[in-house]
Amino acid sequence: MQSPYRIDPEKLHEILPDQPPYRANQLREWLYEHPVLESQQMTNLPGEVRSALSDRLWPFAVEAEQSADNGRTRKWLFRTPDGASIEAVLMGYPRRTTLCISSQAGCAMACTFCATGQFGFERHLDAGEIVAQVAYANATLRQEPLPGSPGRVTNVVFMGMGEPLANYENVRESLRRMIDVVDMAARGVTVSTVGVVPGIRRLADEPWQVGLAVSLHAADDELRTSLIPLNKRYPLADVIDASRYFFQRTGRRVSIEWTLMAGVNDGTDQAEKLTRIAETMKAHINVIALNTTPLTAHERPDGDAIEAFMSALESNGAPATFRETRGQDIDAACGQLRVRSASQGSEQ
Ligand code: SAH
Repeated sequence: MQSPYRIDPEKLHEILPDQPPYRANQLREWLYEHPVLESQQMTNLPGEVRSALSDRLWPFAVEAEQSADNGRTRKWLFRTPDGASIEAVLMGYPRRTTLCISSQAGCAMACTFCATGQFGFERHLDAGEIVAQVAYANATLRQEPLPGSPGRVTNVVFMGMGEPLANYENVRESLRRMIDVVDMAARGVTVSTVGVVPGIRRLADEPWQVGLAVSLHAADDELRTSLIPLNKRYPLADVIDASRYFFQRTGRRVSIEWTLMAGVNDGTDQAEKLTRIAETMKAHINVIALNTTPLTAHERPDGDAIEAFMSALESNGAPATFRETRGQDIDAACGQLRVRSASQGSEQ
């Protein structure tokens, strides 16, 4: 038997052939609504079912867990039975508990500034492996909540490893399970993409009001192609069009992600072009400073450069927020996942 998370939640009766049908509903509740770390905690299920699940409840093992920011950030490295690594980062805020999840082991996009991108692609995660990250976080929060934050995952962002819209069907099914089975608010879930145009359009046509973040990082094609190889296939104009379509269809304002790199995209000319793009997309801009990784050549801008870029946006009237990233000291910040195992030379 494989992990029950890898089975459609509506088909759980298939792994409980000797049990009455209501057992499948009970199991589904334990998996999605009230997740627990161990099957023995599933108190209303018969002992034989609990035992059968005991060593295969999760589709991965926990290889490492780390904590930072005074316990308000927690990072997990999971390992699947076939050796794929999955990382997830939990971040507590006063009114929300956000989980950053992975949609692929590795990533094929090869963005020059991203640690995951330097390692290449391992494989897609299936819907169960994606949603199990949320369930696992909820199961641990139940035992050990983050100080001063909701005891459940309220927000999910697809900003861990992988390009979610390059793994569309599995990501779609994971969204369905989060929204329809876990009962999360669609508005609390954000898919982040480097600009997979057909995926943005498909997502816009789905029945849920999930959020969309577009990792822009450059406001002209020449610069963007030098950072993000996919820009050759889906240039800025197409990404902008698809983002406008998303806003029209869902009524949800898209966020533009902008990772600031010293001397690369922190000049006033980029700030000006970015302002125009944000206007066209009716988007909000989230700026973060690059988290340097041993493998990337780019540098993090200093405080003055960040301030200059933010005030350029402000004087242009662009709606923008500078965001501090969490978990830097445990390599849990955006684009840093995998750094430690890489520098230990244990990767691949
Ligand atoms: N593939 C998706 C989601 C994963 S990356 C995407 O590109 O959006 C999540 C975010 O982290 C993206 O905005 C990405 O550009 C950003 N990021 C990647 N590496 C980074 C780094 N080293 N420092 C800061 N942000 C980084």
